Amino acid sequence: MNNIFVYCEIEDGKVADVSLELLTKGRVLADTLGCELEALAIGSKLDGIEKELAQYGADTIHIADAECLSPYRTLPHAAIICGIFKEEQPQIALFGASPVGRDLGPRVSSALHSGLTADCTSLEIGPHTDNKSGKVYENLLYQIRPAFGGNIIATIINPDCRPQMATVREGVMKKEVAKTPGKGVVKKVDHKKYTSDADFVVRIIEREMEERKINIKGAPVIIAGGYGMGCKENFALLHELAEVLGGEVGASRAAVDAGMADHARQIGQTGVTVRPKLYIACGISGQIQHTAGMDGSSMIISINTDPEAPINKIADYAIMGDVMEVVPKMIKYYKQNSK
Ligand code: FAD
Repeated sequence: MNNIFVYCEIEDGKVADVSLELLTKGRVLADTLGCELEALAIGSKLDGIEKELAQYGADTIHIADAECLSPYRTLPHAAIICGIFKEEQPQIALFGASPVGRDLGPRVSSALHSGLTADCTSLEIGPHTDNKSGKVYENLLYQIRPAFGGNIIATIINPDCRPQMATVREGVMKKEVAKTPGKGVVKKVDHKKYTSDADFVVRIIEREMEERKINIKGAPVIIAGGYGMGCKENFALLHELAEVLGGEVGASRAAVDAGMADHARQIGQTGVTVRPKLYIACGISGQIQHTAGMDGSSMIISINTDPEAPINKIADYAIMGDVMEVVPKMIKYYKQNSK
């Protein structure tokens, strides 16, 4: 059976979290299908990279290691991937829904005339029966994501073209070292076999790295505020609670759009995906576009005046009340009861 491929993003020898998350998911899918998981590592100074990728389940690692392949440039990376895919004929190919993956994925899928589902929130394997012909397809990749403005969760399939391609945003899948490591077989790739001079016409003259000032992704505790917080000034309370609990402040899109919080704090379908140990949703209704980015949290507490708010359905504890009364009490009692 043809295998599953994951394109791994690597910067200064560090594999991106999203790639390790995709390998983790790819391992599960490969085990379900009874096929192997293969990783693509394209860049420079990649010595030993196979050890880390094998830990996350990669059976085979295709390594194209040359100075001209780093930093990332669209054309040579796309040419190498297309070349390898033409030879190896993967059944599934996964990319991060990152700036690099969003650049590469559509280019590769268009060159190979396959389909691509962007920003999947879940990937599963399952059958499909064509209503018209009655033809039964086994073991398709269910590419699951919100659609039509988030009003439905669509399961998208691609019965006819290969590879079945999907992108997934960072944080959506869990990153876990595989219980049994992959075989870690290295296949050295000579990039010259797939690239031409024309692929290197773009030269990178200068790169500037901007450090993320707000990083809510890794926070163990998130105090998230929604439109129900009322105004930007009231968000100060959430910052105070976050400080007391050693967490970070997140926000719904409605709160961000109303200028109550920075866009970098937005959680959900068009924001960041988080899975903290504790998520306190303050004045957030819990629309699907928001919960898509936080429903993997270990414990969810909602504070809302509306007992019917959808967030209460996924909350472990739902506090009915005004955020402006409940949050100050939380701060006061937590301070009182902790040393
Ligand atoms: P509201 O829906 O207005 O809810 C406010 C809540 O606060 C209510 O439940 C109310 O009962 C409660 N409340 C009011 N006053 C108080 C009070 N004093 N005390 C306690 N509770 C109170 N949204 C996101 O969050 N993230 C996304 O990434 C995102 N992406 C989107 C992408 C698309 C394509 C679309 C169409 C929408 C997207 N949205 C996103 C918007 C989403 O649909 C909702 O509109 C948004 O999440 C609502 O934010 P909210 O819950 O803060 O506001």
